[in-house]
Amino acid sequence: MTAQRLLRSEKGRGLGLEIRFVLLVVCLAGLFAGIASISVMSAERANRDAMLGHAAIALAGQALTERFDALTGTLPQAREAALKSIAAKPGVERAELYDAQGALSHLESRSDRRILPAGEDVRAALAQGEPLLRLAQGKVSIALPILQQGAVTGALRLILDRDRLAGAPPSALGGLALGLLAVLLFGGGIAFLMARRITQPLQQLTQYARSLSQQHQSNKIEIHSGDEFETLAGAFNAVTARFEESMRRIERLAFRDPATDLPNLAGAHRVIAEQIDASLAAHEAGVVFVLRVERLDNVAEMIGNDRAQELIGMIGARLRLRLKSIDQTVRLTKAADRPSILARMGGADFCVVTPSFSSGADAGRFAQRLAAALGQPIEWRDQMFSFGGRVGAAVFPRDGQDPDTLIRHATLAVGVASGEPGRARFFAREMEKAAARRITAERDIRAAIEQRAFVAHFQPKIDLQTRRVVGAEALARWMQPNGVMIGPGQFIGPAEEFGLIGPISEAVLVDACWKAAGWAREGDPIKVSVNVSPLQLADDRFTDRVKRVLLETGMPPNLLELEITESVALTDPEQAGRLVYPLKDIGVSIALDDFGCGHSSLTALSRLPFDIVKIDQQFVRALDKDPHAPAIIETILTLANRLGCDVVAEGVETEREAEWLERQGCRIAQGFLFGPAMPPHEFRRMQQTYGHVLPDSDAAQVA
Ligand code: C2E
Ligand code: CA
Ligand code: CA
Repeated sequence: MTAQRLLRSEKGRGLGLEIRFVLLVVCLAGLFAGIASISVMSAERANRDAMLGHAAIALAGQALTERFDALTGTLPQAREAALKSIAAKPGVERAELYDAQGALSHLESRSDRRILPAGEDVRAALAQGEPLLRLAQGKVSIALPILQQGAVTGALRLILDRDRLAGAPPSALGGLALGLLAVLLFGGGIAFLMARRITQPLQQLTQYARSLSQQHQSNKIEIHSGDEFETLAGAFNAVTARFEESMRRIERLAFRDPATDLPNLAGAHRVIAEQIDASLAAHEAGVVFVLRVERLDNVAEMIGNDRAQELIGMIGARLRLRLKSIDQTVRLTKAADRPSILARMGGADFCVVTPSFSSGADAGRFAQRLAAALGQPIEWRDQMFSFGGRVGAAVFPRDGQDPDTLIRHATLAVGVASGEPGRARFFAREMEKAAARRITAERDIRAAIEQRAFVAHFQPKIDLQTRRVVGAEALARWMQPNGVMIGPGQFIGPAEEFGLIGPISEAVLVDACWKAAGWAREGDPIKVSVNVSPLQLADDRFTDRVKRVLLETGMPPNLLELEITESVALTDPEQAGRLVYPLKDIGVSIALDDFGCGHSSLTALSRLPFDIVKIDQQFVRALDKDPHAPAIIETILTLANRLGCDVVAEGVETEREAEWLERQGCRIAQGFLFGPAMPPHEFRRMQQTYGHVLPDSDAAQVA
């Protein structure tokens, strides 16, 4: 309801207030006037009664005096005639003559000739010898004792007409009462007008304040009374304007994302709640999409917060445009009725709320196009940025009927979609179970890191010519409380997902260095390689950490080798170089792991100062099956030779492979033929038992 409508609807109530005010004034005045009138009337009445009494006594006295002889004489006719003449007097209705015993002797009446028993008054007059007056409604009765020589010999009672007896005009006091009434009416009118003048602006202000508190918005209040009320209304308007401005700012801060000017997470909640209600009412299904811009966090970190906000603003604007066109091409007329709404949830996540789809296929197509839109490169400040995009979706009401659940489910789906570039995933119930398992896994991995349960096992590296153990690769193992060792296949993936691969690799680095430094101190120095994760190289402190580990463990730097995969080397080659060169300077060697496995191994080779190339095990395994495999390995060997790098062949399982590799000039090999990754004491025994030359027959046994 707008404030104006509210004002209108309040009018009836406002008038009531006015009337109540006037009524109060009138009632009070009426009360005073009433009290005054009652006192005036009762005074007048008392006065009138006194006058009536006097008149009645005077009349009766005069009649008795005038006809005393006849009335007291012995002649009944004379008494009757006297009585008749008394009854004929104006105002007299009835005349009665009683004897000394109170018995009626004569009666004269204009109308009623019934003989009435002598009343109390007659008896009292006879007994007391005094006139007795009684006032009844409309009548006055006067009983007058007849005294002869000091003795009461009878009584004369007259019934008189009150009005005719009074005959006088109403007293001045009655006029006063009427006057008071007139004053009251006039005063009431004036009071009404004054009340209206006072209450109207007051009422307007009250309604205005009420509308403000209910609506949080209002038009201006218009009062032009030229008095304090107008000033008050002006102040009200100023306060309201400031209040409304503050409300707008609060609203923006609370529900809008400043970088994109899109609804923020709280705004998205509001939008989703509204759309759920509308879709339920229309018996339609809608979808909440969570859009994740890949690598945005990394880029934002690189370019700094201010520039990142600008870039995110641009991504938001681009998405808004793309969403509009996707909406129109996939949802057709539905988009015109209820368009999809874009919001920013924070970080690299956006959200699209689509109120309805004609079919599930449409929703799928819509999701795919959103993911494709996220993948399009963006030019910003003369630089091209290419972000990948993932989309997770939750259908309402099926997957949830409140914003929290829907966003949670769509976010779970986007997490699952993250393994599939440019793909969209819809929420499924199993995802919740998988998420629960992931939570448990994360908790367990964290606990294992704390308890130093990640340890290094050592896989021997063999010189193919001498068959000596010339090195080892330290590989992570998770030691369970029951002593069972779990391999990296079960924890490397989750650890990377939870950002915990760094601490695990570091634990292995520390453990491997402790062991290798110990063996060196025992007189058997041996080179040990450790795997470096992408997260470790993303951290500027990597170089210092490795140096510290070397110092703390007493490990000679030239015995340490870092295995870096091509993807790690290429994520940010400059950063990798910055971190790796200082280590190389102190004697640490660098190996390119899994060479030939990715798409850009050659590029990687040219970016960092590698000392060793490790041929990925897939090429060794393919030696017997793939006719191209030997040529590839030969090429890698030639390339490495030209670059001055050593080569390690991984995954050597058979003597045939070992011999072929040796013939091609590959110096070092690693594989089950010589031994899997083993606990440090076993590796140490192997190193000592087989001396430093591993005979062919024994090598097979080790495998
Ligand atoms: P990788 O670096 O390529 O390590 C070699 C993997 O191949 C090891 O598996 C090893 O046991 C296995 N292997 C060795 N010889 C043979 C063979 O003859 N035949 C076959 N089929 N496999 C062989 P593992 O220990 O399961 O490690 C798997 C991967 O986990 C490693 O691959 C490495 O990428 C990663 N990883 C292991 N430890 C760490 C670590 O401490 N830090 C990091 N960042 N990654 C690690
Ligand atoms: Ca490796
Ligand atoms: Ca490898």
